[in-house]
Amino acid sequence: MCPYFLNHMDNNVIEDVRNRLSVASSVTILTGAGISAESGVPTFRGEDGLWRNYRAEELATPQAFKRDPVLVWEWYNMRRERLSDIEPNQAHYALARLEKRVGDFTLITQNVDGLHEKGGSRNIIELHGNIWRVRCTGCGGIKENHDVPIDIPPYCMDCGGLLRPHIVWFGEMLPDDVLSSAYSALEICKIMIVVGTSGIVQPAASMAYTAKRAGAYVIEVNLEMTPNSGIVDRTIIGKAAEILPLLI
Ligand code: NAD
Ligand code: ZN
Repeated sequence: MCPYFLNHMDNNVIEDVRNRLSVASSVTILTGAGISAESGVPTFRGEDGLWRNYRAEELATPQAFKRDPVLVWEWYNMRRERLSDIEPNQAHYALARLEKRVGDFTLITQNVDGLHEKGGSRNIIELHGNIWRVRCTGCGGIKENHDVPIDIPPYCMDCGGLLRPHIVWFGEMLPDDVLSSAYSALEICKIMIVVGTSGIVQPAASMAYTAKRAGAYVIEVNLEMTPNSGIVDRTIIGKAAEILPLLI
């Protein structure tokens, strides 16, 4: 199917999903890197994947930070700088509008770019943290920080400990409280929409299945079929920024 043109069948699907959403009392969304693609957020593995000959997988780890916190912070400063003038797109805005309408709404995201919040969403569960927050390696305190660039290396105002990005790095566990609130939202929702996620990175990869098993109607929006496509009720092929405004 051509990803960019909606045919007659797709229009029926869109109408059907729009009707379901217009009366839904409980909706949970899961988003991945694809929802920010049209805002121009560089991906880890795309052309911009290398920075000073390092790959993200070599920098976004607790070991790299222990070895060389200045290097890791320099990389995050580069990412903060690139993100600082990037705006949410129509997909982020559509989800913010849906939240205002639905009584019980949760947005689970794997993204760390902060674009959902900037786009007006409020009840957000950030599975992998947020690039605009720092966490103290001493006292564990978490604070918002929008400095671009941040002074390197940054230290905690409360205890003097070294600050790190509030991000779940490769090889780290997702916090229990974050995971359990995500699972409650998946288990109670009547409709789930999975947007722009490859369905490969766990635990997000199995979240559509969790909602489906608990009885939700599950819709996927992606540029291509994914491992989730086999278990969801509908897959809509297309760009998130074009499809979500049609659904909402
Ligand atoms: P992924 O890169 O593995 O998959 C992206 C998915 O989005 C793909 O299935 C692709 O087909 C789809 N896609 C691309 N453009 C799209 C569009 N315009 N509309 C709809 N779908 C589109 O992303 P992932 O599943 O989120 O996993 C990547 C990991 O990397 C995550 O853990 C995330 O934390 C991290 N990451 C985050 C950001 C960010 O914060 N914006 C950016 C890159 C990577
Ligand atoms: Zn501290």
